[in-house]
Amino acid sequence: MGKTVWNKLNSEQKEALFAFNEEYRKFLSASKTERKFVTNSIALAKEAGFKSLDEVDEIKAGDRIYVNNRGKNLCLFVIGTKPVKEGLNILGAHIDSPRMDLKQHTLYEKDGIALMDTHYYGGIKKYQWVASPMALIGVVCKKDGTTVEINIGDKADDPVVGVSDLLVHLSSKQLQKTGATVVEGEALDLTVGSIPNDEEKDPVKSNILKILKDCYDIEEDDFISAEIEVVPAGEARDYGLDRSMIIGYGHDDKVCAYTSLRAIFDTKTPERTSCCILVDKEEIGSVGNTGMQSRFFEYTVAELLAKQGETSHLILFRCLTNSRMLSSDVSAAYDPLYADVMEAKNSAYFGKGICYNKFTGRGGKSGSNDANAEFVAKVRRVMDDNDVMFQTCELGSVDAGGGGTIAYILADLNMDVIDAGIAVQNMHAPWEVVSKADVYEAYRAYIAFLKDMD
Ligand code: MN
Ligand code: MN
Repeated sequence: MGKTVWNKLNSEQKEALFAFNEEYRKFLSASKTERKFVTNSIALAKEAGFKSLDEVDEIKAGDRIYVNNRGKNLCLFVIGTKPVKEGLNILGAHIDSPRMDLKQHTLYEKDGIALMDTHYYGGIKKYQWVASPMALIGVVCKKDGTTVEINIGDKADDPVVGVSDLLVHLSSKQLQKTGATVVEGEALDLTVGSIPNDEEKDPVKSNILKILKDCYDIEEDDFISAEIEVVPAGEARDYGLDRSMIIGYGHDDKVCAYTSLRAIFDTKTPERTSCCILVDKEEIGSVGNTGMQSRFFEYTVAELLAKQGETSHLILFRCLTNSRMLSSDVSAAYDPLYADVMEAKNSAYFGKGICYNKFTGRGGKSGSNDANAEFVAKVRRVMDDNDVMFQTCELGSVDAGGGGTIAYILADLNMDVIDAGIAVQNMHAPWEVVSKADVYEAYRAYIAFLKDMD
């Protein structure tokens, strides 16, 4: 097994590690959607002295800036002593997580039960998302221009909803199916009510609509312009009898996002300008205007350069070419119960620090960024100089499966990028697990990268 982060820490460092993780555990519990993550991040950023880019006319070394893209995508900068045009040190991560979303036409009644129809988001094993308490979090945007915030199920006295599952006593036919189809996508509908009112048609649904009208002043048609996410209800918790881990919803990839965010908060005045970009939509291909493929990032860097008097395309291209990035996303943690899909020498282990994946992809590295060896060597040097423990890994054995990240999209802008991240067990399940040692060591790695990468 070899040395772990736990072995190298003294008691003072261990205390700092547990305190940091407690802050993460609370933040994660309050930030289950990309919108919540952005709102809560901006609140912390303001406390840490960050200002919105549109509030400043020119920027100088030490300035702290954020840019909010539609409430779902956030970019932060700490301006360096060198001009911005000489390039950025960038930390990137995604803040969307697998879940179920309410459909536009969602509410219906069947056989005396009111249900809400959903479409799942991202890659999930559907059978994991049934028979457990779920919360509804999101926004309803009304035609009059107002937005109603919905957050039901996370407070102790809130009601919760959930997807029902078939009792084992009557499952003999269902259990003959394969794992992929044992629960079908269209069976992921939420049970939301069972009390009828006096209406003749759909009395249970009608009663639910009345409750929604009374509590939130919304009508059935308002779901057409709503984004409501169905996520596991309840807080993230300490995991393990030694409290060495955290079980929570959405570690993928909020654990990398939070540690990156904290690292830029704790960066004072670097030489090269520090950047942290938190994006939406990674789980469905990084598409849309809040995903990494949006031109938002380039436009934002152009705006930043303009505030230092640089407005040419050429300068923007040079700035991006001279930038370096840790593209962080969670890695598969080695699981002794499923050792056969892992290749032991190149796996990520709990407690061994931040993971670097030179490449990701599937079936012959397809779709991977595959970082240049020269850049990997520089990253190793920065980690060693700062006493950061790291490991290198692949996502499972060759041809066992695979996955992608946002790394290739930034590499398209011609900067140096490597995949980094934190090992996760139960990835894409409602409740995922991380090691507190890795959370803390990733945060230390990000600070080192922002400070020392040249
Ligand atoms: Mn991810
Ligand atoms: Mn994922």
